[in-house]
Amino acid sequence: YAKENGRNNCKFFEQDMNARAVQRQSIEASLRRALERQEFVLHYQPKINLQSGTIVGVEALIRWQHPERGLLAPAQFVSIAEDCGLILPIGRWVLREACLQAKAWQLAGLAPIIVAVNTSALEFRAKDFLENVRATLADTCLEPRYLELELTESVLMRDAQSTNCVLHALADMGVKLAVDDFGTGYSSLSYLRRFPIDTLKIDQSFVHQMTSNPDDATIVSAVISMGKSLKKRVIAEGVETPEQYAFLLAQHCDEGQGYYFGRPMVAEALATLLQTGISLTLPD
Ligand code: C2E
Ligand code: MG
Ligand code: MG
Ligand code: MG
Repeated sequence: YAKENGRNNCKFFEQDMNARAVQRQSIEASLRRALERQEFVLHYQPKINLQSGTIVGVEALIRWQHPERGLLAPAQFVSIAEDCGLILPIGRWVLREACLQAKAWQLAGLAPIIVAVNTSALEFRAKDFLENVRATLADTCLEPRYLELELTESVLMRDAQSTNCVLHALADMGVKLAVDDFGTGYSSLSYLRRFPIDTLKIDQSFVHQMTSNPDDATIVSAVISMGKSLKKRVIAEGVETPEQYAFLLAQHCDEGQGYYFGRPMVAEALATLLQTGISLTLPD
Protein backbone atom coordinates (compact mmCIF):
# COMPACT_ATOMS: atom_id res chain seq x y z
CA TYR A 1 0.00 0.00 0.00
CA ALA A 2 2.81 2.31 0.95
CA LYS A 3 4.61 1.48 -2.26
CA GLU A 4 1.51 2.15 -4.32
CA ASN A 5 0.97 5.43 -2.54
CA GLY A 6 4.59 6.42 -3.08
CA ARG A 7 4.30 5.72 -6.76
CA ASN A 8 1.17 7.81 -6.97
CA ASN A 9 2.84 10.67 -5.17
CA CYS A 10 5.67 10.44 -7.61
CA LYS A 11 3.30 10.53 -10.53
CA PHE A 12 1.46 13.52 -9.13
CA PHE A 13 4.77 15.21 -8.58
CA GLU A 14 5.80 14.61 -12.19
CA GLN A 15 2.51 15.93 -13.50
CA ASP A 16 2.91 18.93 -11.30
CA MET A 17 6.45 19.48 -12.58
CA ASN A 18 5.28 19.20 -16.17
CA ALA A 19 2.46 21.63 -15.58
CA ARG A 20 4.88 24.07 -14.03
CA ALA A 21 7.37 23.68 -16.86
CA VAL A 22 4.64 24.33 -19.42
CA GLN A 23 3.44 27.34 -17.45
CA ARG A 24 6.98 28.74 -17.26
CA GLN A 25 7.47 28.25 -20.99
CA SER A 26 4.30 30.13 -21.75
CA ILE A 27 5.27 32.95 -19.38
CA GLU A 28 8.68 33.05 -21.06
CA ALA A 29 7.10 33.41 -24.50
CA SER A 30 4.76 36.14 -23.33
CA LEU A 31 7.62 37.97 -21.58
CA ARG A 32 9.39 38.08 -24.92
CA ARG A 33 6.27 39.55 -26.54
CA ALA A 34 5.85 41.96 -23.64
CA LEU A 35 9.25 43.47 -24.38
CA GLU A 36 8.38 43.99 -28.03
CA ARG A 37 4.93 45.38 -27.24
CA GLN A 38 6.27 47.56 -24.43
CA GLU A 39 3.97 46.19 -21.76
CA PHE A 40 6.35 46.94 -18.90
CA VAL A 41 5.94 50.04 -16.76
CA LEU A 42 7.89 51.46 -13.88
CA HIS A 43 6.30 52.59 -10.66
CA TYR A 44 8.25 54.87 -8.37
CA GLN A 45 8.27 54.76 -4.58
CA PRO A 46 9.53 57.77 -2.62
CA LYS A 47 12.49 57.65 -0.26
CA ILE A 48 12.23 60.20 2.53
CA ASN A 49 14.90 62.02 4.48
CA LEU A 50 13.54 61.33 7.98
CA GLN A 51 14.83 64.57 9.52
CA SER A 52 13.50 66.95 6.89
CA GLY A 53 10.61 64.89 5.57
CA THR A 54 11.58 65.67 1.99
CA ILE A 55 11.70 63.21 -0.87
CA VAL A 56 15.35 62.57 -1.67
CA GLY A 57 14.95 59.72 -4.08
CA VAL A 58 12.72 57.11 -5.60
CA GLU A 59 13.04 53.40 -6.23
CA ALA A 60 11.98 52.27 -9.70
CA LEU A 61 9.91 49.08 -9.44
CA ILE A 62 8.89 47.16 -12.54
CA ARG A 63 5.30 46.14 -13.29
CA TRP A 64 3.91 44.19 -16.22
CA GLN A 65 0.71 45.51 -17.72
CA HIS A 66 -0.48 42.13 -18.99
CA PRO A 67 -3.19 42.36 -21.68
CA GLU A 68 -5.35 39.69 -20.00
CA ARG A 69 -4.08 39.27 -16.46
CA GLY A 70 -3.84 42.95 -15.52
CA LEU A 71 -0.99 44.59 -13.64
CA LEU A 72 1.53 41.97 -12.51
CA ALA A 73 4.03 42.41 -9.67
CA PRO A 74 7.71 41.45 -10.05
CA ALA A 75 7.19 38.33 -7.90
CA GLN A 76 5.10 36.94 -10.76
CA PHE A 77 7.72 37.25 -13.48
CA VAL A 78 11.16 38.54 -12.45
CA SER A 79 12.60 35.18 -11.35
CA ILE A 80 11.39 33.57 -14.59
CA ALA A 81 13.00 36.40 -16.55
CA GLU A 82 16.22 35.76 -14.61
CA ASP A 83 16.14 32.02 -15.31
CA CYS A 84 15.70 32.43 -19.06
CA GLY A 85 18.04 35.40 -19.44
CA LEU A 86 15.31 37.82 -20.50
CA ILE A 87 16.17 39.90 -17.45
CA LEU A 88 19.10 41.24 -19.51
CA PRO A 89 17.02 43.12 -22.12
CA ILE A 90 14.35 43.88 -19.49
CA GLY A 91 17.00 45.31 -17.16
CA ARG A 92 18.40 47.47 -19.95
CA TRP A 93 14.90 48.81 -20.57
CA VAL A 94 14.40 49.52 -16.83
CA LEU A 95 17.69 51.39 -16.52
CA ARG A 96 17.01 53.53 -19.56
CA GLU A 97 13.41 54.28 -18.61
CA ALA A 98 14.38 55.21 -15.03
CA CYS A 99 17.18 57.53 -16.19
CA LEU A 100 14.91 59.17 -18.78
CA GLN A 101 12.25 59.74 -16.13
CA ALA A 102 14.67 61.20 -13.59
CA LYS A 103 15.94 63.59 -16.25
CA ALA A 104 12.38 64.47 -17.32
CA TRP A 105 11.47 65.45 -13.75
CA GLN A 106 14.54 67.69 -13.64
CA LEU A 107 13.64 69.29 -16.96
CA ALA A 108 10.12 69.89 -15.65
CA GLY A 109 11.73 72.06 -12.97
CA LEU A 110 11.48 69.67 -10.03
CA ALA A 111 14.35 69.47 -7.55
CA PRO A 112 16.73 66.67 -8.60
CA ILE A 113 16.26 63.35 -6.84
CA ILE A 114 18.15 60.08 -6.99
CA VAL A 115 16.55 57.25 -8.94
CA ALA A 116 17.39 53.75 -7.73
CA VAL A 117 17.31 50.75 -10.04
CA ASN A 118 17.31 47.11 -8.92
CA THR A 119 20.05 45.11 -10.58
CA SER A 120 20.00 41.32 -10.60
CA ALA A 121 23.14 39.24 -10.36
CA LEU A 122 22.90 38.14 -13.97
CA GLU A 123 22.75 41.75 -15.20
CA PHE A 124 25.62 42.80 -12.99
CA ARG A 125 27.82 39.98 -14.27
CA ALA A 126 27.05 40.61 -17.95
CA LYS A 127 30.16 41.63 -19.87
CA ASP A 128 28.59 44.80 -21.19
CA PHE A 129 26.97 45.95 -17.93
CA LEU A 130 29.39 48.74 -17.14
CA GLU A 131 29.43 49.97 -20.71
CA ASN A 132 25.64 49.91 -20.81
CA VAL A 133 25.37 52.01 -17.65
CA ARG A 134 27.87 54.49 -19.04
CA ALA A 135 26.12 54.72 -22.41
CA THR A 136 22.66 55.02 -20.85
CA LEU A 137 23.74 57.90 -18.63
CA ALA A 138 25.33 59.62 -21.61
CA ASP A 139 22.28 59.09 -23.84
CA THR A 140 19.79 60.30 -21.25
CA CYS A 141 21.99 63.17 -20.03
CA LEU A 142 21.41 62.12 -16.43
CA GLU A 143 24.27 63.06 -14.13
CA PRO A 144 25.69 59.83 -12.65
CA ARG A 145 25.19 61.03 -9.06
CA TYR A 146 21.43 60.85 -9.58
CA LEU A 147 21.56 57.13 -10.33
CA GLU A 148 21.78 54.51 -7.62
CA LEU A 149 22.06 50.79 -8.29
CA GLU A 150 20.51 48.47 -5.69
CA LEU A 151 22.46 45.24 -5.42
CA THR A 152 21.77 42.26 -3.21
CA GLU A 153 24.32 40.65 -0.94
CA SER A 154 24.47 37.65 -3.28
CA VAL A 155 26.07 39.89 -5.91
CA LEU A 156 28.55 41.34 -3.42
CA MET A 157 29.43 38.00 -1.85
CA ARG A 158 31.28 36.83 -4.93
CA ASP A 159 34.78 37.90 -4.16
CA ALA A 160 35.74 37.91 -7.81
CA GLN A 161 38.21 40.42 -9.14
CA SER A 162 35.59 41.38 -11.72
CA THR A 163 33.02 42.31 -9.04
CA ASN A 164 35.55 44.58 -7.43
CA CYS A 165 36.48 46.18 -10.76
CA VAL A 166 32.90 46.84 -11.82
CA LEU A 167 31.92 48.32 -8.44
CA HIS A 168 34.93 50.62 -8.39
CA ALA A 169 34.36 51.69 -11.97
CA LEU A 170 30.74 52.56 -11.15
CA ALA A 171 31.80 54.48 -8.05
CA ASP A 172 34.48 56.32 -10.05
CA MET A 173 31.80 57.27 -12.57
CA GLY A 174 29.82 58.78 -9.70
CA VAL A 175 27.01 56.23 -9.64
CA LYS A 176 25.77 55.37 -6.13
CA LEU A 177 25.65 51.81 -4.85
CA ALA A 178 23.23 50.39 -2.32
CA VAL A 179 22.96 47.00 -0.63
CA ASP A 180 19.32 45.92 -0.93
CA ASP A 181 17.61 43.66 1.64
CA PHE A 182 20.60 44.18 3.95
CA GLY A 183 20.91 41.48 6.58
CA THR A 184 19.04 38.74 4.73
CA GLY A 185 21.80 37.25 2.53
CA TYR A 186 24.52 34.89 3.66
CA SER A 187 26.86 37.65 4.29
CA SER A 188 30.26 38.03 5.61
CA LEU A 189 30.44 41.74 6.39
CA SER A 190 33.90 42.00 4.90
CA TYR A 191 32.52 43.23 1.58
CA LEU A 192 31.62 46.47 3.34
CA ARG A 193 35.24 47.45 3.64
CA ARG A 194 36.24 46.10 0.23
CA PHE A 195 33.58 47.69 -1.90
CA PRO A 196 32.61 51.36 -2.40
CA ILE A 197 29.06 51.00 -1.02
CA ASP A 198 27.13 54.23 -0.28
CA THR A 199 23.90 52.94 1.22
CA LEU A 200 22.57 50.11 3.35
CA LYS A 201 18.88 49.30 2.93
CA ILE A 202 17.64 47.54 6.05
CA ASP A 203 15.33 44.75 4.93
CA GLN A 204 11.66 45.18 5.71
CA SER A 205 11.57 41.87 7.58
CA PHE A 206 13.47 43.60 10.42
CA VAL A 207 11.40 46.77 10.21
CA HIS A 208 7.90 45.26 10.36
CA GLN A 209 8.08 44.08 14.00
CA MET A 210 10.77 46.37 15.34
CA THR A 211 8.41 48.41 17.52
CA SER A 212 7.08 45.26 19.21
CA ASN A 213 9.96 42.79 18.97
CA PRO A 214 13.04 43.83 21.00
CA ASP A 215 15.35 41.59 18.95
CA ASP A 216 14.33 43.29 15.72
CA ALA A 217 14.72 46.68 17.38
CA THR A 218 18.24 45.71 18.42
CA ILE A 219 19.15 44.56 14.92
CA VAL A 220 17.80 47.74 13.32
CA SER A 221 19.61 49.99 15.82
CA ALA A 222 22.85 48.05 15.34
CA VAL A 223 22.70 48.37 11.56
CA ILE A 224 22.02 52.11 11.84
CA SER A 225 24.98 52.68 14.14
CA MET A 226 27.26 50.46 12.09
CA GLY A 227 26.24 52.34 8.94
CA LYS A 228 26.95 55.65 10.65
CA SER A 229 30.40 54.54 11.78
CA LEU A 230 31.20 53.32 8.28
CA LYS A 231 29.94 56.65 6.86
CA LYS A 232 27.17 55.07 4.84
CA ARG A 233 23.62 56.23 4.36
CA VAL A 234 21.12 53.93 6.03
CA ILE A 235 17.56 53.56 4.79
CA ALA A 236 14.81 51.44 6.32
CA GLU A 237 12.47 49.63 3.92
CA GLY A 238 8.86 48.70 4.57
CA VAL A 239 7.94 51.56 6.94
CA GLU A 240 4.17 51.29 7.38
CA THR A 241 3.26 53.06 10.64
CA PRO A 242 3.92 56.38 12.41
CA GLU A 243 5.40 54.36 15.30
CA GLN A 244 7.99 52.85 13.00
CA TYR A 245 8.77 56.30 11.60
CA ALA A 246 9.20 57.69 15.12
CA PHE A 247 11.47 54.82 16.14
CA LEU A 248 13.73 55.29 13.10
CA LEU A 249 13.86 59.04 13.64
CA ALA A 250 14.86 58.53 17.28
CA GLN A 251 17.59 56.11 16.16
CA HIS A 252 18.89 58.71 13.67
CA CYS A 253 18.25 56.54 10.65
CA ASP A 254 18.89 58.68 7.54
CA GLU A 255 16.03 57.69 5.28
CA GLY A 256 12.82 55.69 5.11
CA GLN A 257 10.79 54.01 2.40
CA GLY A 258 7.43 52.34 2.81
CA TYR A 259 3.67 52.56 2.50
CA TYR A 260 3.55 55.10 5.35
CA PHE A 261 5.40 57.63 3.17
CA GLY A 262 4.01 56.52 -0.17
CA ARG A 263 3.25 53.44 -2.21
CA PRO A 264 4.95 52.76 -5.52
CA MET A 265 3.10 55.01 -8.03
CA VAL A 266 3.12 56.07 -11.66
CA ALA A 267 5.54 58.82 -12.68
CA GLU A 268 2.83 61.53 -12.92
CA ALA A 269 1.65 60.86 -9.37
CA LEU A 270 5.22 60.99 -8.10
CA ALA A 271 5.73 64.35 -9.82
CA THR A 272 2.66 65.70 -8.01
CA LEU A 273 3.97 64.37 -4.71
CA LEU A 274 7.32 66.06 -5.37
CA GLN A 275 5.48 69.36 -5.75
CA THR A 276 3.13 69.05 -2.78
CA GLY A 277 5.52 67.24 -0.45
CA ILE A 278 4.55 64.65 2.13
CA SER A 279 3.05 65.74 5.41
CA LEU A 280 4.18 63.54 8.24
CA THR A 281 2.84 63.32 11.75
CA LEU A 282 4.50 61.62 14.66
CA PRO A 283 2.37 59.67 17.18
CA ASP A 284 1.84 61.51 20.51
P1 C2E B 1 12.94 45.35 -3.34
O1 C2E B 1 13.96 45.91 -4.24
O2 C2E B 1 13.36 45.00 -1.96
O3 C2E B 1 11.73 46.39 -3.36
C1 C2E B 1 10.90 46.68 -2.27
C2 C2E B 1 9.59 45.94 -2.35
O4 C2E B 1 8.84 46.19 -1.16
C3 C2E B 1 8.69 46.41 -3.49
O5 C2E B 1 7.91 45.31 -3.92
C4 C2E B 1 7.79 47.43 -2.79
O6 C2E B 1 6.56 47.64 -3.45
C5 C2E B 1 7.59 46.76 -1.47
N1 C2E B 1 7.25 47.70 -0.39
C6 C2E B 1 7.58 48.99 -0.30
N2 C2E B 1 7.12 49.55 0.84
C7 C2E B 1 6.49 48.56 1.50
C8 C2E B 1 5.79 48.52 2.76
O7 C2E B 1 5.67 49.50 3.50
N3 C2E B 1 5.26 47.32 3.12
C9 C2E B 1 5.37 46.21 2.32
N4 C2E B 1 4.82 45.08 2.75
N5 C2E B 1 6.04 46.22 1.14
C10 C2E B 1 6.58 47.38 0.73
P2 C2E B 1 7.72 44.98 -5.47
O8 C2E B 1 7.56 46.23 -6.26
O9 C2E B 1 6.68 43.92 -5.57
O10 C2E B 1 9.13 44.37 -5.88
C11 C2E B 1 9.59 43.16 -5.32
C12 C2E B 1 11.01 42.87 -5.69
O11 C2E B 1 11.14 42.67 -7.10
C13 C2E B 1 11.97 44.02 -5.38
O12 C2E B 1 12.31 44.01 -4.01
C14 C2E B 1 13.13 43.69 -6.29
O13 C2E B 1 13.95 42.69 -5.70
C15 C2E B 1 12.42 43.08 -7.50
N6 C2E B 1 12.32 44.09 -8.57
C16 C2E B 1 11.42 45.11 -8.70
N7 C2E B 1 11.66 45.83 -9.81
C17 C2E B 1 12.75 45.28 -10.39
C18 C2E B 1 13.51 45.57 -11.59
O14 C2E B 1 13.26 46.54 -12.32
N8 C2E B 1 14.57 44.75 -11.87
C19 C2E B 1 14.90 43.69 -11.07
N9 C2E B 1 15.95 42.94 -11.41
N10 C2E B 1 14.22 43.39 -9.95
C20 C2E B 1 13.17 44.17 -9.61
MG1 MG C 1 15.26 47.36 -4.21
MG1 MG D 1 14.63 45.52 -0.60
MG1 MG E 1 13.27 42.41 -1.61
